[in-house]
Amino acid sequence: MSRRKIAAGNWKLNLSFEEAMQLAKSIADEEIPEGVEVVLAAPFPYLKSLRDLTMSIDKLHIAAQNCSEHAKGAYTGEVSVAMLDSIQITHVLVGHSERREYFEDTSEVLSKKLERAFENGLVPIYCCGEPLAIRKDGTHVAFVKKQLEETIFKLERENFSKLILAYEPIWAIGTGETASPEQAQEMHAAIRSVIADKYDTALAESIPILYGGSVKPANAKEIFSQSDVDGGLVGGASLKAESFSEIIKSF
Ligand code: PEP
Repeated sequence: MSRRKIAAGNWKLNLSFEEAMQLAKSIADEEIPEGVEVVLAAPFPYLKSLRDLTMSIDKLHIAAQNCSEHAKGAYTGEVSVAMLDSIQITHVLVGHSERREYFEDTSEVLSKKLERAFENGLVPIYCCGEPLAIRKDGTHVAFVKKQLEETIFKLERENFSKLILAYEPIWAIGTGETASPEQAQEMHAAIRSVIADKYDTALAESIPILYGGSVKPANAKEIFSQSDVDGGLVGGASLKAESFSEIIKSF
């Protein structure tokens, strides 16, 4: 089955406003291949300007890197999904391992964030993935399955069908170490299989699953060519127009 192909960049806590706008402009000026979508996950203060800059490009989406689990109220410093929606932001990362590790994004919190995203019509890019110790003892598939059971498997089929998933082994994020194409394929196929068991095969076959973890121009083509890999969630290599453009063209 042919699924959507997606190259998503996650800028994390990087770039000045000027640098971010310049980078987005360079990406927007490049031709995005047929059937490919691009997502730029940017810091909150830049979202509205980036959205305005890229508004006319259907295949280029701007994402928030996080959102509040609360709808509104006395939560100083938080940004709600309704606020994102009010500036026409369409996507939001949920469950990035850095949020899970440093900001106490537990499965319970992530379930609420997913709920808020769907209430406001945003597409969650839901991240999962195992730490090195789990990979070493060979229980990585069971670990990721549990992450899914505690969060997205609580969703109704209709909402689940709108998700984008990203498998990001923690040991490969920002380390320069990449999962081999076979390791990525094994996990993506396993994720599809547990989705089929929980919901149905048609749904499992339709969900885009991105790989994340030191994707760069030199390895993108081989990773993206795996049958169950539908693109990448890219950190470091998305911060330079040349390298991210090459990745976009790797499908
Ligand atoms: C990420 O930020 O999700 C990521 C995969 O980072 P990097 O590409 O730098 O490993």
